[in-house]
Amino acid sequence: MACIFCKIIAGEIPSVKIYEDESVLAILDINPVNEGHALVIPKQHYENLEALPVVDLLALSKVLKKIGLALKEGFGAVGYNITLNNDPVAGQIIPHFHWHIIPRLPADGLKVWPQQPYESNEKMAEVARKISQAL
Ligand code: 5GP
Ligand code: ZN
Repeated sequence: MACIFCKIIAGEIPSVKIYEDESVLAILDINPVNEGHALVIPKQHYENLEALPVVDLLALSKVLKKIGLALKEGFGAVGYNITLNNDPVAGQIIPHFHWHIIPRLPADGLKVWPQQPYESNEKMAEVARKISQAL
């Protein structure tokens, strides 16, 4: 078994756990964006969102909601970002599905994404058509 998260789940690599149930493990990220940055991981190995069964997605979502509340009520976060790096092109390094939940403070200086407008309304409509036709 080569997957780091599978090894953490099996107890072969140490981790700092903040939550565990029968299907989900949440641990602190060893290299946090902000203190309290956590990873919410299904115990079964699935590579990305397309591979993850909806039932597991629901279990993970429930845990994200719990941790978000705990970050605000117990840790002093004012808000949080939830991110998914889905596939290597999106920055996924560990090929075992996981949500990132990152506590935010008003003056933490983090900038999430650079954005820019579409070049035209026609371009925006074309993009929407390509996506919605594949749904
Ligand atoms: P990805 O880029 O795959 O979405 O994120 C992987 C995350 O896992 C990174 O934020 C990285 O800091 C974290 N990470 C990598 N190895 C370990 C580890 O052994 N233990 C913990 N707790 N986090 C890890
Ligand atoms: Zn794995």
